Amino acid sequence: MQTKLQKDIDEMKENIKQIKHKIVILSGKGGVGKSTVAANLALAFAKKFPNKVGIADLDFSGPNIPKILGVENERISSKKGDKYEPVEGPLGLKIISMAFFLDSKTTPVIWRGPLKIKALQQFLTDFAWGDLEFLIFDMPPGTGDEAISIMQLIPEMEGVVIVTTPQEVSLLDTGKSLVMSRKMDRPILGIIENMSTFKCPTCETESPIFGTGGGAQMAKEFSTELIGQIPIDPMIRIQEDKGISEAFEYFNPIVKVLLAKFNKK
Ligand code: ADP
Repeated sequence: MQTKLQKDIDEMKENIKQIKHKIVILSGKGGVGKSTVAANLALAFAKKFPNKVGIADLDFSGPNIPKILGVENERISSKKGDKYEPVEGPLGLKIISMAFFLDSKTTPVIWRGPLKIKALQQFLTDFAWGDLEFLIFDMPPGTGDEAISIMQLIPEMEGVVIVTTPQEVSLLDTGKSLVMSRKMDRPILGIIENMSTFKCPTCETESPIFGTGGGAQMAKEFSTELIGQIPIDPMIRIQEDKGISEAFEYFNPIVKVLLAKFNKK
């Protein structure tokens, strides 16, 4: 007899079977720019595939994706048949986040693991994602139980992109993310080094504020690829605060690398 859990999983799989590629964005620690990378990567994909890209904000305790994408005041309201519609963002991005369910911007999500797992299940089962080329998952930071259980639940996920800064402590945690992904048999698509360097806007001098070469060294150590380096650009922070990110231009070369990995152009 089919168990309730198996039935739920089957229902979830059925609902997202038209999503071609699922990519998880992971970081060993918080504050390295995981959500920034997830949002901008989704935008860069959407530029190439308008209306065919989605982003699921699974950072339940810090759901910042709607703010970065300028849709933080939206709420989930409309239904298509028995499914809810994700919020529509720039370039037709389909967005789901806990933030759309909170009463106020300052309401904290104080949930234990099982509730978060349930929320992820509902994100994937109860929403009309339609046929997407890419669905990007912004994961909770770190390699704790939460990240592990969430990663286990995402069906047929095609790969993990790991975000780090070149700084040693970030790299140490990145190593843990790599080990965790490998242990769980999740393919690693590569490492993105964020906040790689800072180019002074007045004198053009480059300063490696968080060090240099860390991402490349990590990629070598773990036999994976450094698929991109994003500089520190105050515009990224300013645009994000205003919800009008245009930083995704930095991500076009990364999209190209990832598309090649999926044999797409
Ligand atoms: P995480 O998701 O890893 O916690 P965020 O994406 O929220 O990190 O980024 C943390 C802060 O750093 C945010 O204020 C964001 O705007 C800023 N930030 C991230 N990447 C960059 C960058 N390359 N240049 C400038 N600011 C950045």
